[in-house]
Amino acid sequence: MQPRILWLYTRFAALVFALGASVAMAAPPDTLLRVLDPVILKVTPQFFLPDTTLQSEARCGIWDPNKINIYDEDVTKLPDTISIRLIDSLAGRNFKFPVRGHVTSPFGPRRMYGYGFHFGTDIKLNKGDTVVAVLDGVVRVVRYDRGYGWFVMIAHADGMESLYGHLSKPIVKPGTEIHAGEALGLGGNTGYSFGAHLHFELRFMSVPIDPTRVVSFEDGKLLASTVRIDKSWFQHLVELRMVRYHYIRSGDTLGGLAGRYGTTITRLCMLNGMTTRTLLRIGRPLRVN
Ligand SMILES: [Zn+2]
Repeated sequence: MQPRILWLYTRFAALVFALGASVAMAAPPDTLLRVLDPVILKVTPQFFLPDTTLQSEARCGIWDPNKINIYDEDVTKLPDTISIRLIDSLAGRNFKFPVRGHVTSPFGPRRMYGYGFHFGTDIKLNKGDTVVAVLDGVVRVVRYDRGYGWFVMIAHADGMESLYGHLSKPIVKPGTEIHAGEALGLGGNTGYSFGAHLHFELRFMSVPIDPTRVVSFEDGKLLASTVRIDKSWFQHLVELRMVRYHYIRSGDTLGGLAGRYGTTITRLCMLNGMTTRTLLRIGRPLRVN
C-alpha cells in the first residue's frame, strides 16, 4: 500500500476509534484489524514507514514519548527513493514556518569549540515568542535535555519528524494531535544555548536532514508539496562516520595540520589525547577528524 493511501486509511480508522467503541463495533471488522496489524505498515521489505497517527505508531511498538531516536535503520543504505507528500491544501494540511526570524546558524558542519556538526537550523527569536508546528502530526516527545533544553518533537507522516529546541516553555502534551501553525511552545534560551533562539530540526527515520532541501528559509515557504528522499540526503552521516588519520612526516606542525584538515589545534589534541607540547613522532598516526 502506498504511504499516502495508508495515511488516509489510518486517519479514517483513527476517526472510527475516536467515535467510541459502539460505533467502532459497527465498522467492518477488517478495518479495525488492519489498523492493529503492524505488518500492513511495511511498505517496502527493508523499511518500516509508519503513519503518524498515534494509534498506528503506538501499536507498532515504535512510539516512545521519551526517546529522541526511535528508528535504527541505516538510512545511508536506503535502497529506493521515498516520496513523502508533506502537505495537501485540499485536505487542509499545510506548512507553516515555525517562528518569524532570521537564520543565525544553518544546518551543516560548524567550527565551534573545536569541530562539530550542527544538525539543526537556528532561528533568532525573542524569549516568549510563539513557536508553531510546521506540519500536521502527533506530539511525541516533550521534555528537558541538557543540549536541547526544553524541546518538543512532533511525528509527521511516513517517518518524518520535527524538533523544536531551547524553548522557555512547551505548551503541548505527548500524544496530542497538532496541526501546522498551531502553537507548541514559547521560544527561549534553555539548555546549551547562548541567547534566545529556536533550534529547529527536520528528521527522517530519526536522522536530521538538511531542511533547506525542504523549505526556503528566505521566505518561509515549502519548496514542494512532495519530497523525494534517497540516500544522498544522508551523505553527511557517511562523512561523519569516516575517521581519517594522517601519518606524521618531518616538518609537520599541529597548526599546519589543523589548517590542512580544516580543524583546530585544540580539536587535534582532544582527538589524540595529547597537548600542544607533545612531540610529533615521525610515522605516528594522528587522527584528524
Ligand atoms: Zn542549533
